[in-house]
Amino acid sequence: MKPASFEYHAPDSVEEALGLLTEHGWDAKALAGGQSLIPAMNFRLARPAVLVDLNLIDELAFIRRNENGGGDGGPGPGGVRIGAMTRQRAVEKSELVAELAPLLTEMMPHIAHPQIRNRGTFGGSAVHADPASEIPAALLALDASCRVRGVEGERWVRAEEFFLGLFGTSLEPDELLIEIALPGPRELTGCAFREISRRQGDYALAGLAIRLTLDVKGRIQEARLAYLGVGGAPALAASAAAVLIGEKPTATVVEDAARTAAGELEPMEDMHASAAYRSRLVEILTREALATAAERASGSG
Ligand SMILES: Cc1cc2nc3c(=O)[nH]c(=O)nc-3n(C[C@H](O)[C@H](O)[C@H](O)COP(=O)(O)OP(=O)(O)OC[C@H]3O[C@@H](n4cnc5c(N)ncnc54)[C@H](O)[C@@H]3O)c2cc1C
Repeated sequence: MKPASFEYHAPDSVEEALGLLTEHGWDAKALAGGQSLIPAMNFRLARPAVLVDLNLIDELAFIRRNENGGGDGGPGPGGVRIGAMTRQRAVEKSELVAELAPLLTEMMPHIAHPQIRNRGTFGGSAVHADPASEIPAALLALDASCRVRGVEGERWVRAEEFFLGLFGTSLEPDELLIEIALPGPRELTGCAFREISRRQGDYALAGLAIRLTLDVKGRIQEARLAYLGVGGAPALAASAAAVLIGEKPTATVVEDAARTAAGELEPMEDMHASAAYRSRLVEILTREALATAAERASGSG
């Protein structure tokens, strides 16, 4: 299959790219790694009249310690900042990410295959907002913030407000995702990732990313359980989190939260799995991930 014809631009600065997106509005699309957009164009599911290739914009590809004091409106010091055009493979292999956001290091190898991660970008996956994708769920679990820029200025958006639904984000057609900030490790906090797919590299049938924080008495103070593959959007399970808050992560509490998560999420049925099967996966994966995150939070895992 071949895409419909389009006009091609390869700007080398964010300003130039934003100018092009503003000029062409809904007719234009940014091109990052092309691993989702190009197949969609080849199948004529997307027919942008203008492609704005971001691959020459070096300032969008970086991984750095967040030393910002909040001066740019973003989250204050601590954690890591990842430029939108950073390849997924670079995030997977980064020692800084392993130190400051180890959940990402655990999660990244589950995305597709190495060849796709070599081209696919961290920001491209976030903007694509596929409900079956790993990166949006991890950003929700970690309470990440997204820096978005248009010609008129920029804003920071928390992951919860960034993801709006099926392949939907709060990004306007003339805006670019610039970078994503992830908070650093915290005391008595553990994260975990689990997913099930039919074959290594396939999209997951169901999966989740978790961040759990305990208080000094070992009770759960905060729980963020973010799911992929089970609904029309990357989703946080608020009722399951509520079951956990104030409790010690005993087997009974974990079991209860896992059942609550399976009840509150509404998995869809498709050619790959029934809704009932996905609910069962949610329960099992939640139990496993919670047990691992609790062990890590208490320092025993
Ligand atoms: C065979 C195959 C298997 C895959 N398996 C998985 C999987 O298991 N899990 C998974 O999560 N993904 C999977 N993917 C998708 C892959 O991870 C893509 O890389 C990712 O979804 C999109 O990233 P990209 O950089 O390629 O973006 P592109 O395809 O270039 O762009 C995607 C969308 O985001 C927009 N966009 C990109 N960057 C920006 C930006 N900075 N600002 C504004 N808009 C932007 C584009 O305009 C486009 O609408 C798979 C892909 C293939 C081909």
